[in-house]
Amino acid sequence: MTAQVATGRRSVAELKALVAQAQADSADWTADDVAAWTAAHFAGRVAVACSMAGDSVVPHLIARHLPGVDVLFLQTGYHFAETIETRDSLARNAPVTIVDVLPKQTVASQDAQYGAKLHDREPTLCCQLRKVDPINETLAGYEAWVTGVRREDNALRANTALVEWDEGHQMVKINPIAAWSFDELLDYATTHSVPTNPLLTQGYPSIGCAPCTRPVAPGEDPRAGRWAGLAKTECGLHVQADEPPITLETTFVS
Ligand code: SF4
Repeated sequence: MTAQVATGRRSVAELKALVAQAQADSADWTADDVAAWTAAHFAGRVAVACSMAGDSVVPHLIARHLPGVDVLFLQTGYHFAETIETRDSLARNAPVTIVDVLPKQTVASQDAQYGAKLHDREPTLCCQLRKVDPINETLAGYEAWVTGVRREDNALRANTALVEWDEGHQMVKINPIAAWSFDELLDYATTHSVPTNPLLTQGYPSIGCAPCTRPVAPGEDPRAGRWAGLAKTECGLHVQADEPPITLETTFVS
């Protein structure tokens, strides 16, 4: 399959109006309701961002309503083998279009310019080069993106809305499993035979690049294993996650 191409991008005001209406209507929405809403309003205009960790259920959830949906996977060059295997399994078994998003530089060329193991010395720069810049460039071709962000991930994500306006990307951000627990996520994967990253049940409830991810102890913050020992907790893709939701009243305020 080839990537879907969004054409005729709607205005920011139109997109914000959709968000405001969804926020007004979505108090009782299930994840499947969010997926149905996504298909109704964004067919051919939306991509699912998937790290092939716990969020591998999200492409399946959306594809039930939007078969062939684009699934963006950041090929950082630093993934666990299990993560790549999950990506390959999802590509074989789910009706989705995997779009590998590549950084401008290979790991070798980045090492040549910045020195080896930039992730140990300047992880924010490394994430910028290998994740944030490439995904931002790719997302510019869509009106909306779907994520696997969940409120229980950490305190910064505790107020995540099912549908929100992403001010940084100037697009709609859809978080269908925001309210799910880790167990609900695993239950969905089992019920629907969705490939999941085996590391999830080996002490890695949150999985990023191998050099920046360690297992966590029972009861620890699920994301405590990401950039452990550093002040960094997010790669930068979800900087707008704690923005207050826009309202119908503010929809057309510039
Ligand atoms: Fe680099 Fe680590 Fe960020 Fe991956 S998670 S892009 S290796 S700093």
